[in-house]
Amino acid sequence: LVVLDGVNKHFGDLHVLKDIDLTVGRGEVVVVIGPSGSGKSTLCRTINRLETFESGTITIDGEPLPSEGKALARLRADVGMVFQSFNLFAHKSILDNVTLGPMKVRGKKKAEANKRAMELLERVGVGHQAGKYPAQLSGGQQQRVAIARSLAMDPKIMLFDEPTSALDPEMINEVLDVMTQLAQTGMTMIVVTHEMGFARRAADRVVFMSDGEIVEQATPEEFFTNPTSDRAKDFLGKIL
Ligand code: ATP
Ligand code: MG
Repeated sequence: LVVLDGVNKHFGDLHVLKDIDLTVGRGEVVVVIGPSGSGKSTLCRTINRLETFESGTITIDGEPLPSEGKALARLRADVGMVFQSFNLFAHKSILDNVTLGPMKVRGKKKAEANKRAMELLERVGVGHQAGKYPAQLSGGQQQRVAIARSLAMDPKIMLFDEPTSALDPEMINEVLDVMTQLAQTGMTMIVVTHEMGFARRAADRVVFMSDGEIVEQATPEEFFTNPTSDRAKDFLGKIL
């Protein structure tokens, strides 16, 4: 579904993505881990075309990434992204946060958008909060709304960049549970996270990045029990 082939990106002199080859199949859940500064966020942002890149190709569902115009807007709608900060619209209700994109970008009627939004809000466990404003919700609840908002666009793939790292510990699991359920529904997902429990439980594949390179990729069982590179061993030694 998503294919990166020889993707290179620099920030000035800094080579942040080095010849990245990555294929993510439909329904696959790929967890990306690696040290701080290794390029994980840049990788996500590049797939969503929030960052440009200098060489290589990225295709989503067989189509090359568009760089501008309507095609880019369509790509953004097809590629859901959930960040560390929830980025909800503070002056709109929870329900309006979720219906805005489908109405504006997908051209859905209000009644239809509301119905779908309520289904999604129920699914992530915040249906009863639909009339409130973001500031009235906990961080974990806001992040679940952010996930529902992305899902409301019927994305082909969901990108998550450390979705739980800004949350208090007791709220992390409620968000990871929603993500685990989503993985079980067959959603294609790329997840950057330091939550190794989630990686073991939900990932089909772990991709380990270091210094802008994909150093190794393997199933979670293989990766956690038998990492092959020194860099991965070193990283796991520090975090496990
Ligand atoms: P973390 O685990 O801390 O989130 P990361 O793996 O997500 O790290 P990136 O945010 O992708 O790492 O950053 C990769 C490198 O690119 C870092 O050295 C970072 O300082 C640099 N970088 C990121 N964004 C920019 C930018 N807009 N301009 C210049 N350099 C940047
Ligand atoms: Mg990052």
